[in-house]
Amino acid sequence: MIQHTAAHTLETDVLVIGTGGAGLRAAIELHDMGRRVLVLGKRPRADAHTVLAAGGINAALATIDMEDTWAIHAADTLVEGRFLSDPAAVELLCREAPRVIDELVAWGMPFHRETDGRISQRYFGAHRYRRTAFVGDYTGQEIIAALVREVDRRAITIVERVYVAELLLRDGRVNGAFGFELDSGREVIVQAGAVVLAAGGHIHIYRRSSSRRRENTGDGMALAFAAGASLADMELVQFHPSGMISPAQLEGTLVTEAVRGEGGRLLNNRGERFMSNYDAERMELSTRDRVALANYTEIAQGRGTPNGGVWLDVSHMPPALIHERLPRMVAQFKGVGVDITREPMEIAPTAHYSMGGVRVEPHSHWTGVPGLYAAGEVAAGVHGANRLGGNSLAEILVFGRIAGRHAGQDAASQATAALDQAQISRVRQRLATLSQRDGAHQRALIDRLQETVWQGAGVVRSEAGLEQALHALAGIRSQATNGPAGAPDLAATLDLESMLLTAEATVRGALARTESRGAHQRSDYPETDAEWQRTIVIEPVVGERGLGMRLATAPIAPASPEVQAAVDESELELAGRLVE
Ligand SMILES: Cc1cc2nc3c(=O)[nH]c(=O)nc-3n(C[C@H](O)[C@H](O)[C@H](O)COP(=O)(O)OP(=O)(O)OC[C@H]3O[C@@H](n4cnc5c(N)ncnc54)[C@H](O)[C@@H]3O)c2cc1C
Repeated sequence: MIQHTAAHTLETDVLVIGTGGAGLRAAIELHDMGRRVLVLGKRPRADAHTVLAAGGINAALATIDMEDTWAIHAADTLVEGRFLSDPAAVELLCREAPRVIDELVAWGMPFHRETDGRISQRYFGAHRYRRTAFVGDYTGQEIIAALVREVDRRAITIVERVYVAELLLRDGRVNGAFGFELDSGREVIVQAGAVVLAAGGHIHIYRRSSSRRRENTGDGMALAFAAGASLADMELVQFHPSGMISPAQLEGTLVTEAVRGEGGRLLNNRGERFMSNYDAERMELSTRDRVALANYTEIAQGRGTPNGGVWLDVSHMPPALIHERLPRMVAQFKGVGVDITREPMEIAPTAHYSMGGVRVEPHSHWTGVPGLYAAGEVAAGVHGANRLGGNSLAEILVFGRIAGRHAGQDAASQATAALDQAQISRVRQRLATLSQRDGAHQRALIDRLQETVWQGAGVVRSEAGLEQALHALAGIRSQATNGPAGAPDLAATLDLESMLLTAEATVRGALARTESRGAHQRSDYPETDAEWQRTIVIEPVVGERGLGMRLATAPIAPASPEVQAAVDESELELAGRLVE
């Protein structure tokens, strides 16, 4: 139950929501520009979702492949995003990424290095050159450790285990947030000059996902949408080719792409290295969407493993190298009785990354709602229809900093508006109503939602399946609202609300995009349609029955001449290979 008698009211220049890489980097920027900053997060500071990131972070450092440049990195990102990325955001990401690596080094990040001291860079799928810097297979954990050290050194305030339930607005400008402490239920009300939303993605709407429980429930997207921001490309969800499939409690847990990067081979139940039938040139280092679709197809056509997966094998590699490069994977599989130095891993596609999210202006990451910025996985724009592995860790640091800087300037440009007490009363009323719902029932509905979205909007979609999913989601919404009263679980109830919104946006976007492109595969529209090189925008509309969705599309701006030249070169190279 929410305790509003003992409300915790805080005031700051800029509020950051989320303690992952994007949120912590934004907070550091704000502090360093002299702003007061406060960070709220659902989990402890050193345990946000970013700690799961394994394989590495991209930057064209040219430490291993001297030909690499930021423009080629940008071209690879646009090509693999199937030209749905915002070229301005991609360009900024790739230009700034090397600076991020320098900054991390200065902050004590122990990147793997060659014997002569150069930072090592490994291949990730679909990169023209080796440009993924790493620390074993626990790069995200080290990034968070470095950021937390910097945050602590600056004595930035982080309030942990606070669930933000709503953004506060005055005269159309975001000026704070309303949340509650997960442990005590005490209200937390923050008044701020501006807000940076860094609350992560929405892949937990899928039954099989690489996320942990109770993360990636789409809260950030739902918070922004309710405040008037638009969502973009929500249908573009990345399915990673390799998630664990057993035991059941570990279903979906990621098997890092570094396994394929280091030489892992994919095999079907006949022992065939089947990638030769899908991308003979790049084999296991093909793009994530192609490898995920290949795995899906092998399984769907009966060439899968006993548990409905395919095999991923590194046993041909020297055991010492496996231990050095993939220590987390060795431990992860040892925990379920598999020695990956001798036996193959059983894997299948798993929902992995939200390429869509809150629509932002590429240079500032402003959401279009005064006072509200968004950065990291919560935001759309960079990854198009298929994210290049390693680009997200670069993105959260590049755009965490940029969003922080712009929010800081914005907050300094005007006086913080007083909180709207009428809105606070409405939020209290809403949470009191939600607190009456039976928590066990809400959690059961989350399971149903995840199964519905997995079946209807998974690796391969069709109009019939998507319509069915939409219908089932409406049923789940009705049962959530009209279900029994009982022992409350407000966090689960709010999770379900956000998941319903983001699942509906995902399904509606997938229905609208009548083509196949990257991670969005429609069995009834198998071809890519040039007319669909557009962003699908979902705008909030307030109607009689509450907040509704209006779909629109927006064109994608051209790339700069420098990046376009690198794209043309890459396409020529690919065409040359096909002719050969
Ligand atoms: C297993 C795995 C491996 C990966 N490996 C790589 C890799 O090697 N390279 C790469 O580039 N990318 C990788 N990724 C992707 C990358 O880790 C994420 O995209 C990135 O970490 C997202 O960072 P973020 O700061 O945007 O959000 P997150 O790290 O998800 O942080 C969001 C924060 O917001 C908080 N939050 C959410 N809702 C609320 C709320 N309502 N109230 C308060 N707080 C809230 C959460 O608790 C969390 O602290 C991987 C992802 C997974 C799952």
